[in-house]
Amino acid sequence: MSDENLGDVPAAEFREQLHRLADWMADYRENIETRRVAPSGEPGTVTRALPQSAPETGESFDAIYRDIDELITPNVLHWGHPRFTSYFGATTTAPGIEADMVAAALNVNAMTWRTSPAATELETVVINWLREWMTLDQKFDGVVYDTASISSMHALAAAREEKASNARGLGVIGRADLKPMRVYVSDQAHSSIEKSAIALGIGEKNVQRVPTDNAFAMNVQALREFIARDLAQNLQPLAVVATVGTTSTASVDPVSAISQVCREHGIWLHIDAAYGGGLALLPENHWVTSGWNEADSFVVNPHKMLFVPFDFSVLYVRDIERLRRVFTLVPEYLRGDTLAAEKNYMDYGVPLGRRFRAIKAWMVWRTFGRKGIAARVREQMRLAQVFADLVKSDDRFELAAPVVMGVVCFRCNADDATNRKIVEQINASGRAYLNVTELRGRTVIRLGLGNILTAERHVREVWELVQEQC
Ligand code: PLP
Repeated sequence: MSDENLGDVPAAEFREQLHRLADWMADYRENIETRRVAPSGEPGTVTRALPQSAPETGESFDAIYRDIDELITPNVLHWGHPRFTSYFGATTTAPGIEADMVAAALNVNAMTWRTSPAATELETVVINWLREWMTLDQKFDGVVYDTASISSMHALAAAREEKASNARGLGVIGRADLKPMRVYVSDQAHSSIEKSAIALGIGEKNVQRVPTDNAFAMNVQALREFIARDLAQNLQPLAVVATVGTTSTASVDPVSAISQVCREHGIWLHIDAAYGGGLALLPENHWVTSGWNEADSFVVNPHKMLFVPFDFSVLYVRDIERLRRVFTLVPEYLRGDTLAAEKNYMDYGVPLGRRFRAIKAWMVWRTFGRKGIAARVREQMRLAQVFADLVKSDDRFELAAPVVMGVVCFRCNADDATNRKIVEQINASGRAYLNVTELRGRTVIRLGLGNILTAERHVREVWELVQEQC
């Protein structure tokens, strides 16, 4: 691009580039299956192929575009590939891609209503839609963040404020009036809770992991015993985090029984339904919502099950004023904004600047509707059962956990190293992508479904690859 022009890329050129990019994106989605799932390059492949120093003068779109096509794209792990069956699958969708393009063009900052009225209002709209779909009570209100890690950290900050009076004002360090605070999670809970404890001055060691039963769900009697022990030692039980859809097996903690314990002791109940929350959209899976309305806070990641592209996490808090009280802090230059409207999402967390994430959920959910989303989730759950049946039909393998959602944990009847090697070889082949996890000290292979492009033939192909390696 010429440096003589001090403006942006000229309109006609921009239009032409966008058309090329639109075709590129459509081709990428249409032909994604012909690609390797994981790249074959060693660490440093991309860096080595690029110049050592930053460009002093502008470069052409053609040169940049060529690198995207020939260097960047071949060196990403293709999460949208139908044989990418790792983590919780991927939630790329056409309306989601389009929404991200709209958001990029608008490039608004939804810190207050006035800084982007539509972004703020749409955020409230999709938060309300999702609350209704998940049958959460109206007393819950929400806020959109990037990830569940951040959502849970904010939930625990609100919990902390209630136990450590004026933690907001005085902090928690060096206060003789405070006892060490304890957070209880199952031994299957996500590591983000420890990260929250680190960030909030609670301390990683004050996250008590509670054993789980055969279905990898929290043992509530053990929870009671930990709380009793901590109270006897003059510690302060702060919160229990119940998981609905754990990371390794998608197991579900007994939320109702846990909520009873929380009520008895005045402990904050946070539900991590980052993955499993989406299941509530399927009427036949309504069981999953048991106890949800007893919670103080609840996180769900529509980027894990509900087809909203990464990143999109919603934190709901019962009486959200409890969260607002902790985080509202209006700098002078935004005071006028706060007089213009009541709902300013900057008041509900650490980030001031906020992307227009709501447009992704709004476009995706409008495109498919609740029924369409439920049907797609249901199909991915069915595929998990198909895969589980294949595992059961081959006596060289065993299922390692009950199959509750779109996740299948299984093992080849061999040692841990062999199981790890199976996954490494499949991933290195570029033909599929799985991950390993550990359950009760044993390495297991984990298949995670959820990609809208994954069909039964892909699942069967992955299974054939696994069989070849065992
Ligand atoms: N909670 C659960 C149950 C998860 O499985 C994960 C990640 O997979 C997280 C929280 C963290 O999610 P995020 O990457 O959005 O922070």
